[in-house]
Amino acid sequence: MSLQPAVFLDRDNTLIANDGDLGDASLVRLLDGVPAALQSLRAAGFRLVVVTNQGGVARGRYDEGAVDAVHRRIAELVDAATGIERTIDRFYYCPFHPEGLVPEYTREHPWRKPQPGMILQAASDMELDLAKSFLIGDAPRDTESGRRAGVRTVIVSRDSDRIARAHADFVAADFTEAAAAVLRHRNEPFVPQEVTHTQSRHTAPTRRLRLRTRDEGAERIRKAVLELTDELRSERNRRRDSSPLRFAATGLVLLSLLTATFAFLHLGELEAFARWGSAAVLSLLLAIVALLIDRR
Ligand SMILES: [Mg+2]
Repeated sequence: MSLQPAVFLDRDNTLIANDGDLGDASLVRLLDGVPAALQSLRAAGFRLVVVTNQGGVARGRYDEGAVDAVHRRIAELVDAATGIERTIDRFYYCPFHPEGLVPEYTREHPWRKPQPGMILQAASDMELDLAKSFLIGDAPRDTESGRRAGVRTVIVSRDSDRIARAHADFVAADFTEAAAAVLRHRNEPFVPQEVTHTQSRHTAPTRRLRLRTRDEGAERIRKAVLELTDELRSERNRRRDSSPLRFAATGLVLLSLLTATFAFLHLGELEAFARWGSAAVLSLLLAIVALLIDRR
């Protein structure tokens, strides 16, 4: 069976209204247009997977049973609206938080967004094609987890600061627009995004293509600089090999050897030995000085 594309869905304020920790299933309210948009994504062949941080479990606000109950309620409301059983394929949640109150949940975890753990786990469990998948979320940590997993991202927000920080591939004002963006761009070739990219890509794909062109330009400049550096280096080496100072130093070393030989031949005559010996030392020193000047 071939890998299937998926849309990974943030939960709170993407699918349902939730401005705080939600542990009460009776308070679940789907955001406008969500069931119809999910249905259109399914009809286009996407698997639908919720990926949600539930640090409220670590903070002791509610337990995992409550999270499951909320998810059952979301599934029930969506399925009732679409008339399709299991419109959403799976719910993944991360109950851990590094600053929790419940010891067993108080730690960092690879599933906690902005880390990509939940997406990668789902891809492995469900045989998903990440290169053809998308993530829809309302927070920069959602889109970051998507980027790190190698999927295209849609930020659902009207807040320009949030949008700028999300570095998403696409921007949507609400979930209906987000699903439309996925459907519009699903057949475009995927250019993986650098996770460390600091520029907003919310006008992609045109912006993405432009960035790529700019990267290619930068690569050409880098190559040209390297070539120039190599050329300068070999030119300098050539100059150094034929330098008159090096030539003089070689001569001085030879002179030093010659005078040292004479000094040894006059070992018995103190005055002659001292004269030839001094000459040997002096020419050696001059050779060293010449080499030092040449190096600079
Ligand atoms: Mg959210």
